[in-house]
Amino acid sequence: MPIQILSDDVASQIAAGEVVERPASVVKELLENSLDAGARSINIRIEGAGQRLIEVSDDGDGISQGELTLAVARHATSKLRTAEDLFHITTLGFRGEALASIASVSRFSITTRRTGAEVGSHIRVEGGAARPVEGAGGPEGTEVRVEDLFFNVPARLKFLKHDSTERGQIDGLVTRYALAYPQVRFQLWQDNRATLKTSGNGDRREILAQLYGIEIARQLLEVNSDEDGRHMNGFISPVALTRSNRRDITFFINGRWVQSVPLTTALVQAYHTLLMVGRFPLAVVFLNLPPEEVDVNVHPAKAEVRFREPERIFSLVQRGTRRALLAYSPVPSIGLPQWQTAAAQPRVIDPAWDMAADLKSDSRPAELPEEALVPSETVGAAPVELPSGQLPLLRLIGQVGLSYLVAEGPDGLYLIDQHAAHERVLFERLMKQVAGKSIPAQALIEPAVVTFPPQQAGLFSHQMDALEHIGFQIEPFGPASFRVRAIPALLVSMDPAAALRVLVEDFEEDENPLRSEIEGRVAARVCKRAAVKAGQAMSIEEQKKLVADLETCQSPRTCPHGRPTMIHLSVDLLERQFGRRGSR
Ligand code: ADP
Ligand code: MG
Repeated sequence: MPIQILSDDVASQIAAGEVVERPASVVKELLENSLDAGARSINIRIEGAGQRLIEVSDDGDGISQGELTLAVARHATSKLRTAEDLFHITTLGFRGEALASIASVSRFSITTRRTGAEVGSHIRVEGGAARPVEGAGGPEGTEVRVEDLFFNVPARLKFLKHDSTERGQIDGLVTRYALAYPQVRFQLWQDNRATLKTSGNGDRREILAQLYGIEIARQLLEVNSDEDGRHMNGFISPVALTRSNRRDITFFINGRWVQSVPLTTALVQAYHTLLMVGRFPLAVVFLNLPPEEVDVNVHPAKAEVRFREPERIFSLVQRGTRRALLAYSPVPSIGLPQWQTAAAQPRVIDPAWDMAADLKSDSRPAELPEEALVPSETVGAAPVELPSGQLPLLRLIGQVGLSYLVAEGPDGLYLIDQHAAHERVLFERLMKQVAGKSIPAQALIEPAVVTFPPQQAGLFSHQMDALEHIGFQIEPFGPASFRVRAIPALLVSMDPAAALRVLVEDFEEDENPLRSEIEGRVAARVCKRAAVKAGQAMSIEEQKKLVADLETCQSPRTCPHGRPTMIHLSVDLLERQFGRRGSR
């Protein structure tokens, strides 16, 4: 093919591809425009997960009739003039690209009235083609409507995730912006259901409660730190409150939501040695930096930034976080008043605290000989071979460290992790009952009500089927709340609300698992919650029962999440370790 200059249509669709990836990216651009226009109140209506309609209306400055055509033209902006301006951007937008991009892949319209203007105006753009501007009524401010997103780029539609995921993305985005701008009133409606309403009274805790639920919002620690005109504030989780991934770590820089791996790492490292491996904090952090120290012009959706002096920013985050943690930690736990007062005393912080040194001094537990960690199957042949990894009859010896059971079998010694083993036992029983469609349920005398943050409520409602199938009785109870009426009798010892919470934690990871898979995963999670914990004393009877139950399991050697339930020290291994063999 000869080289040709692309037609405007094609060029703007390519540009749109970078900015408008999914409905939530449209919402983000429109929100940013409203905030740039000085809005005090922003209303967002979503229909059909954003594919049918995204409507954002604000009470900001508005656009004058004479400029409306320009507003939807590419590279037209009121926020930037010279290339020099790029290096001290104080608005969220600056490229003049968003509206044109969105309009090129949707049926788009703006109705707006400039502050103080007698009348307003209206423009419609369909798949990039703008109609003439018309006069219109309406309040001061701007209303942007985006209908039938991607109607002219069907290929894009195929990349969208499940509706509940797209809705969740929008809920998460708007809630985070509401947090960053607590003095602005936000209302978000999804299919005529309000999923977020903030008062605009400046109180961030109130909004945190909507994002994470009241209990979590109450526990979050406040960060506030200032170093040479660079400011960090926000909220971080105490060490007792963790997540299994980094997704709940949010950064805003100068009012802009950004994704930054190094910033996230800096924050996580501040928790070093305080959290278990594989657990991560929750955080919402706002950084205010001199605009000329941040390059915002490095990412199409402006979601990434570059710092002029990265180390300074990382250490600001690290020190600020560490300071807040040490000042409060450990988190007061409920019901232990004496311990609480003793622990709440701020500890002295070493001003010369050094991350690198801290990392090096990482103390590891004394290591077992390598052989002992190899699964028993590969270490010598067990004298008694059993089908499909099942266990021989075991004789309980006792509990060690309140966490492990020691048992003896014909083929050596078994060290059993009580928590993992119990998980396995509960899981197999529950799945058996599910398969036999006979799940004894236990009605709760007092139904438990669980409230989720909006974006999780959507995900959760998606799992209700699976939960019902494994014996829960749950019903929606208000916009983001659910009422648990009954739980599987097998799990009666657990706190239903706590159990349900863990379910939504990383469900987003794979969006559309098979139904049977969802059930298994949901069951595994619930069983993990219900299982006896490490550190919990067990009576001899309970220990015996657990070992006996484990013997009847199909896959007794791993927990439902795949971790080992036991270490087997075979007779053979013991003999070799004690030098009774090999020397002959
Ligand atoms: P940018 O935000 O980068 O300038 P956009 O394409 O998002 O580019 O918007 C183009 C212009 O339209 C903005 O510069 C602004 O002048 C105007 N505009 C867009 N949305 C609004 C709004 N909600 N209120 C007032 N003006 C707006
Ligand atoms: Mg913009």
